[in-house]
Amino acid sequence: MKIALVGIGKIALDQHVPALQASPDWELVATVSRNGTVDGVEAFTDLSAMLAARSDIRVVSLCMPPMARTDYALTALRAGRYVMLEKPPAATLSACDMLAEAARRARVGIFATWHSREARMVATAKDWLAGKKIKSGQITWREDVRKWHPGQDWVFETGGMGVFDPGINALSILTEILPDPVQVLQARLEVPANRQTPIAAQIAFSDNISADFDWRQEGPQTWTIEIVTDAGTLSLQNGGADMTIDGASCAAPEAALSGEYPRLYSRMAELVHAGQSELDTRPMALVADCFVIGDRISVDPFHF
Ligand code: NAP
Repeated sequence: MKIALVGIGKIALDQHVPALQASPDWELVATVSRNGTVDGVEAFTDLSAMLAARSDIRVVSLCMPPMARTDYALTALRAGRYVMLEKPPAATLSACDMLAEAARRARVGIFATWHSREARMVATAKDWLAGKKIKSGQITWREDVRKWHPGQDWVFETGGMGVFDPGINALSILTEILPDPVQVLQARLEVPANRQTPIAAQIAFSDNISADFDWRQEGPQTWTIEIVTDAGTLSLQNGGADMTIDGASCAAPEAALSGEYPRLYSRMAELVHAGQSELDTRPMALVADCFVIGDRISVDPFHF
């Protein structure tokens, strides 16, 4: 199927373009970006112009930051195109509802991706936790914002989510693997004095689960989720790529495709063939609740 990629920046070039170029399902035939291009691919700077010129393209994948993305998604859906969204699906939950309704009315599908759910051991973790009683949990998501978001001021602007931009990846895994939903009980948001969004957050969820998100981590980076159950302790490490049970390594399952983004595009192909949507807003709801009930603490100014 022919696909257009919109918002040619870091994640489009790091992950989407290689995944599409290696995929048997997809042919990348157009880009839309004010500045970016992909060698050998027809380039547009305006989405509506691309949609008008290329009625043969049924699917549009949107890779720009969330604040800008909703208008692009509505335009593409109303033009009758299937839409794939980078995470988070939008900056607000009400925008997610609008997108779902626009897709329904246009009789096309929308796929709100959560790339971390495609990490190698996430499905295995979900299977292992099924039917077990959760006693407690600890999420530690500590990384260096200067390394992963060099110069990207939008992450600290309103709607950019701050440290929840990576933190929502952990929450996308949590909401996928736990047998039951959790709620946010308390949150502490550390916001640099010169910015709008948190650089660190500590969250208490129900079931004695807590999270420590921090963007000031230099040196080794940590992306782990540990869940203590009545039948042992599961630990997901390296963002879900590795897993132990009571300290013993678990073997990775056989997989037809390796890599989070190849798996996302394979799923998108299935959804288009089936004429279906997938838009799970549970990770967004947890983030929104942190902003609603969290204490805001002012911390040192942050400069890239
Ligand atoms: P980015 O490089 O800062 O932005 C991507 C592109 O979006 C930019 O090159 C820009 O292209 C376009 N854009 C930015 N602001 C725009 C606006 N106001 N209107 C229209 N287009 C705009 O960001 P990114 O790191 O790729 O992240 C984009 C999304 O991917 C985010 O939602 C992020 O959470 C997600 N993501 C990022 C990573 C990562 O490692 N960076 C990993 C996984 C997921 P033009 O200026 O050329 O139009």
